[in-house]
Amino acid sequence: MSSALLSYGEAQALVATHAVRLTPLGTERVALAEANGRVLAQVLRADRDQPPFSRSTRDGYACRAAEANTHHSLALAGSTRAGELPSAALPISSVWEIMTGAPVPEGADAVIMVEHVGASGGRVRLLPPRTIAPGENIVARGAQARIGDELLVPGATIGFAQIALAASCGCPLLEVFLKPRVAILNTGDEIVPVEAEPGPAEIRNSNGPMLAALVRDAGGEPWVLPTAPDNTQALEAALREACEADLVLISGGVSAGKFDLVEPVMASLGARFHFTGVRIQPGKPLVFAEIPSTNPHQNEDRAKHCLGLPGNPVSSAVTFLLFGAPLVRALAGRTHRGPRFALARLAEDVKGKAGLMRFLPAHCNFAATPGEFPIVWCVEWQGSGDLVAMAHSNCFLVLPEDAERISVGETVRILLA
Ligand code: AMP
Ligand code: MG
Repeated sequence: MSSALLSYGEAQALVATHAVRLTPLGTERVALAEANGRVLAQVLRADRDQPPFSRSTRDGYACRAAEANTHHSLALAGSTRAGELPSAALPISSVWEIMTGAPVPEGADAVIMVEHVGASGGRVRLLPPRTIAPGENIVARGAQARIGDELLVPGATIGFAQIALAASCGCPLLEVFLKPRVAILNTGDEIVPVEAEPGPAEIRNSNGPMLAALVRDAGGEPWVLPTAPDNTQALEAALREACEADLVLISGGVSAGKFDLVEPVMASLGARFHFTGVRIQPGKPLVFAEIPSTNPHQNEDRAKHCLGLPGNPVSSAVTFLLFGAPLVRALAGRTHRGPRFALARLAEDVKGKAGLMRFLPAHCNFAATPGEFPIVWCVEWQGSGDLVAMAHSNCFLVLPEDAERISVGETVRILLA
């Protein structure tokens, strides 16, 4: 067991090398309506050109741009509504009335908006000084995609846009990766269930539901086990059970206290430790290990990755976002795995910490003023047990290791949930 503390970058890289070897455990078919948030396991191909016909994007008049730009009045030769094919090609010196979403008649190369014409006595003219360019207000057949094109590949996270695209390709069902089952084993003699009335020195289990939500966000299926007490035997039994999942998250019991038994219990199950501490705050005692399978039918490849998260809620959340989410996303089949960072401008001076990279609960306004970064400020907090502060934050301010002080106005990184 190594006791050297890794830098954030070293620990992140190490987790990433493990993540690339993790693959989803299978696929299933789900209805399009149920596919939101799932990960695509198939190629989605265009079953026809998109758009399938040259489509008008406006209500107006299909024309030849060169004829319209003479501003002479042109004969109204016909009309097409969405859902119909034009009954003929566009005759010379004519326009064709057309509705948004309708196919443009053969021969037309632009659509004049209805607002831009003068119409009388069955004739229509483009009102000067306005002119129109060829192609205006028409999306040509196949401009978005050609029949047979690969539109989405396995690993894409399915959201509203991917659902719309699949619907447009005639896919009522999608092949998606199975969600990985992620065990959440909370530890601590002082921890009681949410429903229980805590004794004077007891704490409600907030990490269980919090980690379950984070696991779901990353594409996993949480499995919250009964909280394990700080006793070797009980913890060992609970950890053995947790190892039946695809990934194991433990919260608490990884610090240097007398009853922090997670590391020795992992060791007794034959764990291979990748690291047992990272130079970050909060989250320094984080443990990353692999526990060999006790099932003789499973080989070493299926050793369970196990993260021992420090029990303080902010520590658990930050270490999950940095190190747990990439593992869950990999098992879920997502192409994008890494934690998400953004840039913002600091609203106040903030002190760093020698030898530790810091992640402080912060609030970013995410304002999109051109040429300006969003503004971020720290939420006042009482340390890594402060759930109130975390609930009032929407990101974590990242302070580089050894930054003594970051001044108001500087550009900083923020960690997004
Ligand atoms: P530990 O990492 O076990 O030393 O715990 C650090 C702090 O986090 C202690 O104050 C614990 O009471 C608290 N804590 C541990 N587990 C949980 C949990 N599941 N929910 C809320 N707080 C917790
Ligand atoms: Mg504890």
